[in-house]
Amino acid sequence: MGTARENLKSARRIVIKVGTSTLAHADTGKLNLYRIEHLIREIADLHNAGKEIIFVSSGAIAAGMNKLGVKVKPQTIPANQALAAIGQGVLMHIYEKFFAEYGQTIGQVLLTNENAADEHARENSRNSLQAILDMGAIPIVNENDAVAVDEIKIGDNDNLSAIVAAMIGAEVLIILSDIDGLYNGNPKLDKSARLIDEVTEIDSEIERIAGGAGTKLGTGGMFTKIQAAKVATSNGVTMLIINGATIGNLRRVLSSEVVGTIFPRRESS
Ligand code: GLU
Repeated sequence: MGTARENLKSARRIVIKVGTSTLAHADTGKLNLYRIEHLIREIADLHNAGKEIIFVSSGAIAAGMNKLGVKVKPQTIPANQALAAIGQGVLMHIYEKFFAEYGQTIGQVLLTNENAADEHARENSRNSLQAILDMGAIPIVNENDAVAVDEIKIGDNDNLSAIVAAMIGAEVLIILSDIDGLYNGNPKLDKSARLIDEVTEIDSEIERIAGGAGTKLGTGGMFTKIQAAKVATSNGVTMLIINGATIGNLRRVLSSEVVGTIFPRRESS
């Protein structure tokens, strides 16, 4: 096993990103409470074990659609902003309830690109996240979709989570996906497609494999995850893509079991 996987055992500051396709049922778009509860229990336990966790969660727009019974994602910016405003509260309510059950305190941090655009902005965001961690709480981060417009939007939470991980000096970023990791082909179409265990260099071949896809519910796909991997690894953060549907995966990967795809941080940074 490579040292990057071995080092996961001792990682202390960890960003965990969960996407809408992990949080919601694919068929109905409604929140998958069973999965959310297990995930939060795992995160709470990691926190109990002495880890500092920053939790980046999507799902605001999906939760807003759910609440209002909206079936198709609207096209206009204000409608999406409104759904995010409604859904973000719904999400936080659920997180507050589940985290409180396990004795954890959370704090909401909503960011846009403006909060990471230059060193001054990054420092202000970092100070806030650091203060929440210092209080022993778990920051719950999302893009501030209620006010974000194209000009200031990061646009997807894969990139947002990498920016946050770099900003706060995390050792590891774990992206929970609806697939086991990065494959060298499309496993849905090609039976010989193989899970890639480790990516040491993000070259044009890796970018080609990642393609441009995304799911009905989420914004990202492998493409934005590879963009995130570039940001993370060049800023000293090791990134992983693991399956968020497999209960216990977080604990396993952080015990250095070979799960998902690892992108070791670049040593020179
Ligand atoms: N920020 C969006 C939301 O909470 C999701 C962005 C993404 O799917 O990456 O709904």
